[in-house]
Amino acid sequence: MLQPVAVGHKNLADYTHIVGWPLIDEVRSLAEPLAGLRVLHLSATAFGGGVSEILYTLVPLMRDVGIEAEWQVIYGREEFFNSTKLLHNALQGAPDDLTVDQWATWKHYNEMNARELSEDWDVIIVHDPQPAAIHSLVPEKGRLWVWRCHIDLSTPNEETIGHLLPYLQTYPRSVFHMPEYVPNGMDGRVYVIPPAIDPLAPKNMALSPEDAIYVCNQFGLDVDRPLMCQVSRFDPWKDPLGVIDTYRLAKDEFPDLQLALVGSMATDDPEGWDYFNATVAHAEGDPDIHILNNFNNVGSVEVNAFQSHADVLIQKSIREGFGLTVSEAIWKARPMIAGNVGGIPLQIHDGESGFLVDTTEECAERATRILRDPALGKDLGRRGKEHVRANFLMPRLLRDWLRIFGEGGGP
Ligand code: UDP
Repeated sequence: MLQPVAVGHKNLADYTHIVGWPLIDEVRSLAEPLAGLRVLHLSATAFGGGVSEILYTLVPLMRDVGIEAEWQVIYGREEFFNSTKLLHNALQGAPDDLTVDQWATWKHYNEMNARELSEDWDVIIVHDPQPAAIHSLVPEKGRLWVWRCHIDLSTPNEETIGHLLPYLQTYPRSVFHMPEYVPNGMDGRVYVIPPAIDPLAPKNMALSPEDAIYVCNQFGLDVDRPLMCQVSRFDPWKDPLGVIDTYRLAKDEFPDLQLALVGSMATDDPEGWDYFNATVAHAEGDPDIHILNNFNNVGSVEVNAFQSHADVLIQKSIREGFGLTVSEAIWKARPMIAGNVGGIPLQIHDGESGFLVDTTEECAERATRILRDPALGKDLGRRGKEHVRANFLMPRLLRDWLRIFGEGGGP
């Protein structure tokens, strides 16, 4: 019932020229005594969102350094995912807790998956709240259990976190993006480790300016005119309507400006489609606003091209767990302006490696400043890229996991 995910193969050595020898050496020496360690990652989905994005790189790199890592996706049906979507929203502060029946559904699917889980794992890493009850149900199936939280738990619905906390407290280890996200009352050893991006994935790999232009051209962008770009799901917390307002303010001074709003859609996410339609309506047919999604054939390479070619990158989030899209965008060495929320300030030092903003007006002011002064944009972009290189690339995350394994249980 638990589905193994095929992740392909990756070589840590390929990252040497990007992150440097010292980190690669450190990873190898941490990995040596852990050879053969059996590590299982459990998550709710293999598609979409930050968790799967990370595991598609982290798992093969763990294998490359000698860990017997596997990734399995839990079994769930619509009723389970309806409950866990509410759970996710409530944990990020939405007012409605799950009903008694929805909590029972969540528990029921955790019980089914717990029964099916195989035994004899050295480490089991449970990602996010969907499968979080499993440890309390079958603790004997793994020697060390870690709960890895990818969401912002700083202001949760009190009832919801109250219900979930007893299940989280059983984990001997837990990992959060930021100290602010650690709920009161966590037991065990708590680590604060931000996530990371894969600089060699098609979404982030080096693309020549000519290739980026070629791709942008195909999507109807005028490559000789300035471009503003945000890549994000169509979701109120990502504020695509605010991005359009920002673009309109900046367009008063730069009438040539174009905007690309890029977001992937799921067929089974009606909320996403509603918000996509609201975004299209807000654009009012402006031919310089390009609203694109995966149904227009926009995949990783296209996202890479838009980001690499953009004059100004935006991530105007109002709320954000970490915001992998921020590091992904900054890695293209283009200037980024982003909401001063959640994990974004970890990734951008205001005025140095990008700009942090609180309002649409501020966002537009910074955008016009960059458009007026391309040298400023270049500097911000270059320093941003170095900040991402030093802090948010996958070999660093691999090292941090190996340190946890090293403290917690050899083979
Ligand atoms: N993503 C994508 N295409 C899109 C929008 C998002 O591939 O159109 C990816 C994005 O590149 C990132 C992940 O989905 O790797 C989203 O992670 P993030 O932390 O930015 O936000 P979340 O969607 O998890 O809130």
